[in-house]
Amino acid sequence: MRITEIFEQQQRTFSFEFFPPKDYQTAIKFGINAGQLMKLSPSFVSVTYGAGGCTQNNTFDIVNLFHNDLGFTCMAHYTCVNATWEKIAYDMRTLQDMGIENVMLLRGDKPKGEKLKDPNPDGFNYGSDLISFVKDQYDFCVGAGAYPEKHQEAGSLDQDIENLKKKVDAGTDFLITQMFFDNRYYYDFLNKVEQNGIKCRIIPGIIPITNYKQIEKFSEMSGARIPDKLKQRMEPLKDKPSEIHKIGLELAVEQVGELLENDAPGVHFYTLNKCTAAIELYESLSQDFKDVKMLYEQSLSPHIATP
Ligand code: FAD
Repeated sequence: MRITEIFEQQQRTFSFEFFPPKDYQTAIKFGINAGQLMKLSPSFVSVTYGAGGCTQNNTFDIVNLFHNDLGFTCMAHYTCVNATWEKIAYDMRTLQDMGIENVMLLRGDKPKGEKLKDPNPDGFNYGSDLISFVKDQYDFCVGAGAYPEKHQEAGSLDQDIENLKKKVDAGTDFLITQMFFDNRYYYDFLNKVEQNGIKCRIIPGIIPITNYKQIEKFSEMSGARIPDKLKQRMEPLKDKPSEIHKIGLELAVEQVGELLENDAPGVHFYTLNKCTAAIELYESLSQDFKDVKMLYEQSLSPHIATP
């Protein structure tokens, strides 16, 4: 199913992002964790492509598994950094032949150890170039990335939003945000986006903090700022994983609850291929926010395929 069709049925979506496992060991853990998360019947799932510069090939295998073996609506992430149009065309045909209807199209970051062809000889320099090409040639429902605290390379948020408009004008059907830890960034971003005449569903991307050191690393990589109040609370406990998990979860429940109360069109969870935090978060929301629970129940549909 196209994700835009799900939007027509579900006022709010509840989705999970996975990354493809690298080897046998991680594949086993992936299977167990993903299996637990699928019991929550997410609106859709997505699988990253070469994030961190590896496992690009495994993306299509996992997407195939979710879509064809398990019956979930699945979105394949895809990046154009260093790609030729022949490769992109080949990969899009492969996804199409698998029956995949949803792709998340991004420029991507330079893979580790590879030299960046800058500018790309085939003209794929930005997410918008890839989106235009794919929308022109294929019939995919297309998601793209949005950056409430601006993309790290952008001179300003205003400039970044001007560039975001190019992606939306190129045919993006919906946007998912980079992680953020302070909802004010998301609300301010939505206002600016609206002022710029961009009309597109913008789903907040959320990551529960269950490992402070790891989140510090992500924050540095993505430019998502950790608010001082949160830092002061978490830093003294960073070597106490169970304390961090407990506080991280409390904060995530607070963050997601507030987003939903303020009419966010759902939540996209960066699961990091782990299930505990996402399950606990879902369960806590169900108890603490009865209306949210009701909305979730209305929005969750039974996607699990019979084996
Ligand atoms: P772009 O829209 O290409 O923008 C990148 C920069 O260029 C911005 O600073 C923008 O302002 C600027 N820009 C855009 N268009 C123009 C223009 N026409 N002229 C001048 N400047 C311009 N990475 C992966 O490798 N794999 C993944 O699976 C993956 N999944 C992601 C999922 C989400 C929800 C998000 C938010 C990000 C994801 N990323 C992933 C990271 C993403 O690839 C990087 O952030 C990348 O640097 C930007 O890609 P983009 O297409 O979003 O940005």
